[in-house]
Amino acid sequence: MKDETICLHSGYTPEDGGPGVVPIVQSTTYRFQSTEHIGDLFNLPNEYMYSRFANPTVDAVEKKLAELEGGVGAMCTTSGQAASLLSILNLCSAGDSFISTSAIYGGTVNLFAVTLKRFGIECIFVDPEASDEELQAAIKPNTRLVFGETLANPALTVFDIERFAKFAHNNGIPLIVDNTFATPVLCKPIEFGADIVVHSTSKYLDGHALQNGGVIIDSGKFDWTNGKFPEFTEPDESYHGIVYTETFGNMAYIIKARMQLMRDIGAYPAAHSAFLLNLGLETLPMRMKQYCENAMTVAKYFKASDKIELVTYPGLPDDEYYELAKKYMPNGASGVIAIRIKGGKAAAVRFMDGLKLASREVHVADIRTCVLHPATATHRQLTDEQLIACGIDPGLIRFSVGLENIEDIIADIEQSLANV
Ligand SMILES: *Cc1c(COP(=O)(O)O)cnc(C)c1O
Repeated sequence: MKDETICLHSGYTPEDGGPGVVPIVQSTTYRFQSTEHIGDLFNLPNEYMYSRFANPTVDAVEKKLAELEGGVGAMCTTSGQAASLLSILNLCSAGDSFISTSAIYGGTVNLFAVTLKRFGIECIFVDPEASDEELQAAIKPNTRLVFGETLANPALTVFDIERFAKFAHNNGIPLIVDNTFATPVLCKPIEFGADIVVHSTSKYLDGHALQNGGVIIDSGKFDWTNGKFPEFTEPDESYHGIVYTETFGNMAYIIKARMQLMRDIGAYPAAHSAFLLNLGLETLPMRMKQYCENAMTVAKYFKASDKIELVTYPGLPDDEYYELAKKYMPNGASGVIAIRIKGGKAAAVRFMDGLKLASREVHVADIRTCVLHPATATHRQLTDEQLIACGIDPGLIRFSVGLENIEDIIADIEQSLANV
């Protein structure tokens, strides 16, 4: 099925006479007739037993998201941060390292560079433009994976997924891609060689700024039996000796994430959150089309203004990443634009504060137009060096185009720019 159809029909099939919309199963527990049945659940946990790590409403959304990305399975989390964290912890232990491009979301930079370091896991950052030799030089015997972001928040650098997938696979390790800004409607990283895809569903997937969430999706394509991943091929003593690749085949990664990490950590969304996420997903393809169209118009407007010094939007033909955007997001470059106003930070603040329709908020990819100054907000914890490495100029404004009528969005920009 195509995306529009998947978004409306996948994940949940009503029984004869059953509810037409996925029901909210608001229950911690599930009841069983026999003690033996419960015991069996711990051997092959393919039924619901406890909502810390599995729930029918969440499961319906997981199935839909897996199908949308072209994966074999998915696991939802309470936030995008939790998805990124668990996607790494499923492969790395203390003493391991992994490689990430530096053009990623600032919250992820902090998670990788500060928090995971305290777990004893080293993140080696590489420039997205690094040469093959430089990339290879970053590989160590303990390197377990490569990480990148399709469309970097907020630098809007486009990640060369195919190139980094080849690099990872040549070294016998998987590629994880954060596909939040592109969404599976605009880019399906698995088709370009990504092995694992993560999302902050708080953004376009939810789409309405209703609830935080995340998801990890497994392509099912990576060969965990290549000798580098004994935790997949040797008995898991924390799960009475299960061997993940033997018992679960190409779903080994995503089931291990649930059985070990979600079981122990419990960063699992509530049924009601999944219900709301599902509601957002139903209209995702239509919304993405309009976001792209509105953003293109706004980007061209900014481009034509003599008050704007720099416009970054990979959908513009003269953008540095236009060619990569055409390859990875042929139907549109999503709804976020980065701009730099002449007059530096003071002018940026004046422009932002003068907006009447667009809101100033710590969010992006909202259904309503919103703006943020990353250097003093979401990316405040980063040093100037880290800011530059993420592609963030101190004067940069992140302009997230919403789904209001385009004439109203432009009129708002126009009136505010007039006062700058
Ligand atoms: C927002 C965001 C995250 C973090 O997601 P939360 O849901 O806020 O935890 C991760 N990656 C990207 C690209 C994001 O934009």
